[in-house]
Amino acid sequence: MAKKSKKRTVKKSNPHPIKKKTKVRLPKKVKHGRKISTVSVPPKVQSVESAKSSKHNPYEDVLHNFELAAKKLNLNEELAQLIRTPDRELRVELPVMMDDGKLHSIIGYRVQHNNARGPYKGGIRYHQEVDIDEVRALASLMTWKTSIVDIPFGGAKGGVTIDPTKLSMGELERLTRAFTSKIDLIIGPSEDIPAPDVNTNAQTMAWMMDEYSKSHGYSPAVVTGKPIELGGSLGREEATGRGVCIALREAAKTYHLDLKKITVAVQGFGNVGSHTARILEQEMGVKVVAVSDVKGGVYNPRGLHYNNAVNQLKNTGSVIGLKGCVKLSNEELLELKCDVVIPAALGNQLRGDNANNVKAKLIVEAANGPTTVEADEIFASRNIMVIPDIYANAGGVTVSYFEWVQNVQRFRWDYARVMSELEKTMTSSYAAVHRTSEKYKVSMRIGAFILAVERVAKAAKLRGI
Ligand code: GLU
Repeated sequence: MAKKSKKRTVKKSNPHPIKKKTKVRLPKKVKHGRKISTVSVPPKVQSVESAKSSKHNPYEDVLHNFELAAKKLNLNEELAQLIRTPDRELRVELPVMMDDGKLHSIIGYRVQHNNARGPYKGGIRYHQEVDIDEVRALASLMTWKTSIVDIPFGGAKGGVTIDPTKLSMGELERLTRAFTSKIDLIIGPSEDIPAPDVNTNAQTMAWMMDEYSKSHGYSPAVVTGKPIELGGSLGREEATGRGVCIALREAAKTYHLDLKKITVAVQGFGNVGSHTARILEQEMGVKVVAVSDVKGGVYNPRGLHYNNAVNQLKNTGSVIGLKGCVKLSNEELLELKCDVVIPAALGNQLRGDNANNVKAKLIVEAANGPTTVEADEIFASRNIMVIPDIYANAGGVTVSYFEWVQNVQRFRWDYARVMSELEKTMTSSYAAVHRTSEKYKVSMRIGAFILAVERVAKAAKLRGI
């Protein structure tokens, strides 16, 4: 069990990002006998989006966890400085012709956090709330995630500030092609490899691959999560959800939970949430009592039927209204009386203001960044275990790596091979994270950060800095 961590080391959002710099407190003791107590990190990019001062800043949470890990590792400050912040941040303006003939200017980002262990890797999300700090946080999480599962990639993330549910297929395609051509100069099969994330999918990757191939020749390895017909890997679509289920299974062993007796609530019914719910119910015999989508959720203490939930979503556009279930909000789902909660939607769901209401014993983070530092501290004090995102949802990028390997080798693996390699990676990574958290007497999250940061630091040092 983690001790309740002390005061937060990273200050709150700065309402005037350009005038002041964010101070990050660093470990007092640094090598070479120098003492540095604070260091400046780059000011936030000046943009309308980052001026939302009161908004929770996910990047500060990632930095906070990084500092805790760096301190435990007694990491040399020069090295820490090098791997803490992103290597490169690209902001692009995308002119997109809408179906009504009007030209819209849409903002997108690609943040490349670190490539010490291999090419930058990470998804692209389309969401109306995307801003530079969110993309930075997610890019950084990718660096630690690829390190934990020990695949030869670094970390990056992309985001476009748009609500894609309001766009037609034609508009989505033009937007995706515009974004790809604007980031073309920094992506590539050996440089930076995008993939799907929130509100993007195999079709998005097909357009990206096609657009990139226009100027570089046929390049399937430039993106992962492609359709099977274009070099995608068997099993990639379900990979994140399957990885989450393996994470839950391994955690259940540690915390002595009987999978046949527990109840689970899953927030989110997109790619990750729906595969997670399906595998839990249909393959592992776990009782899933609640699921939700953007509009809200449904609850039945006796268990839902995955197939019925899928049909309800298909027929009505939401799981709400599922027979025999009580309707509930996304917030209420997190506070349900059940054994395990799986946030599988967006970040910032479990916070200081609702963490005390959570009744589950175990949280498995299928989403990226669903738990804030404040919530983590509350969970630690209440003995609620959190299996962190950077391990729990790493199944997706793991199979992305297998896809990339198949593309580079021009050779297709069968489904059984993909699944058995994924199983090995998720199981051995769980053991490594758990071992590290026991060794340093920290939470699973900080154990995961320690393991990840140590590997990235070693690689950066070996390459010469
Ligand atoms: N978007 C997924 C993630 O956050 C997958 C990234 C990838 O496959 O590169 O892990």
